Amino acid sequence: MTAPNNAQFKRRIKNALQDQNMRQAVKKATAILRNNRLKAAEERGNWNAWRALGKDIREHVIANLDYYLQEFAGNVRRNGGQVHFADSANDVIQTVSQVVTAHQAKIMVKSKSMVSEEVHLNKALQDSGVTVVETDLAEYIIQLADEPPSHIIVPAIHKNRYQIAELFSHVAGEVIPADTPSLNSFARRMLRERFLAADVGLSGCNFAVAETGSIALVTNEGNGRMVTSLPKVHIVLMGMERIVPSLSDLEVVLNLLPRSATGQKLTSYVSLITGPHQQGELDGPEELHVIIVDNGRTNLLVDPEFRSALHCIRCGACFNVCPVYRQIGGFAYGSVYGGPIGSVITPLLNDDLQHWGELAYASTLCAACSEACPVMIPLHEHLVRLRYRRCKAGYTPELERMAFRTWGSLFSRPGKYRWAMQSGYFLQRPLMHGNHLEGGPTPLAGWTNSRYFPAVAKEPFRKRWDKLVKEVQD
Ligand code: SF4
Repeated sequence: MTAPNNAQFKRRIKNALQDQNMRQAVKKATAILRNNRLKAAEERGNWNAWRALGKDIREHVIANLDYYLQEFAGNVRRNGGQVHFADSANDVIQTVSQVVTAHQAKIMVKSKSMVSEEVHLNKALQDSGVTVVETDLAEYIIQLADEPPSHIIVPAIHKNRYQIAELFSHVAGEVIPADTPSLNSFARRMLRERFLAADVGLSGCNFAVAETGSIALVTNEGNGRMVTSLPKVHIVLMGMERIVPSLSDLEVVLNLLPRSATGQKLTSYVSLITGPHQQGELDGPEELHVIIVDNGRTNLLVDPEFRSALHCIRCGACFNVCPVYRQIGGFAYGSVYGGPIGSVITPLLNDDLQHWGELAYASTLCAACSEACPVMIPLHEHLVRLRYRRCKAGYTPELERMAFRTWGSLFSRPGKYRWAMQSGYFLQRPLMHGNHLEGGPTPLAGWTNSRYFPAVAKEPFRKRWDKLVKEVQD
């Protein structure tokens, strides 16, 4: 991931705001997902009690992560799997490449894995001559479009069916109608051959169960099962925080994840993969490799202020309620993790507040994200904390710091404050439209052109208050 600068961030936002197709598609889909979640939570009943239970499980796991990782790794090995620990994106790429080379693999089929997006695995493999085929429908679409995902649950949320039909028609060399059955049937036809020809399958991991060494995959398409059972080798990429201690804890998070993500009671497929193919079994890979990825997660683990961001179960609910994400979509964030959780974890995973800290401002701090989060991560508080750290580190623009220093000095001295308010009233007059301001020079225009900026009142509050008191006393 190349570190961006603030100008690039603003340019991406501007581009996003001009993309009407994307904005409509995102608004429509996020509204459906949000409403489905609310309905599903109500149907489940005691939703906040379930959330509290989920929070406790995640808190406990992250506080004892070393213990549970060891238990999980030991059980994977006992089940016949191989475990690899990868500290960085390069380590992930090297480990996957070693497995691929050892099997002289030419084709890899993948089910959805955000970690593979995070480390840019596809490009690295393709550069070394391996054909990588995304088999999750949305991932397949964005692979054809050569785009990154714009939502962690619905990677192609920014596309409408006409754009998808255009993409598919281009690949097919014939017109594919823009209706769901035709689009699905085309993708199915294209992907089926790939499943059969693939040497290696790679999947993500929704949860890793420590007590059994199992990988839990939560999907809505049959592709996950094909990827993990047809090729001879199955590679699992998992963030090191994906652990749950036991199958009964899995039950709790499986109640929270699909309801929060899509509003489903359960997804179409929930698979538990425990080791490679065993004697007497009909299918399954001959080799199972589990790659446990750090890639910056330790930065969060060792930081008590932000550790709870590792509790995330990647449901995407915070995206769907965020008024900023709903306007600008995922690409504007410049990170594979967008939305509120992406704004929190991206600067921390990259250990780079200077270049990524600006993401903390992609929020109105309305706290809708924290309220939607099924494991009660206080996302808006994290965003405020990140802003604080960024300011403390001196990464905010000099002009902004000067403005706040002046503001601080005025607000701490009543005499100066009164003088400033009176001068402000006269200075603002050219910009006054009724009781608010419009236009003005940059950076003021950034506020006044798109947000309501109240004008300084002619008569200060103190004066009005004194008058009121006098009237009441008289
Ligand atoms: S932060 Fe919470 S709401 Fe957002 S993706 Fe993670 S678990 Fe879901």
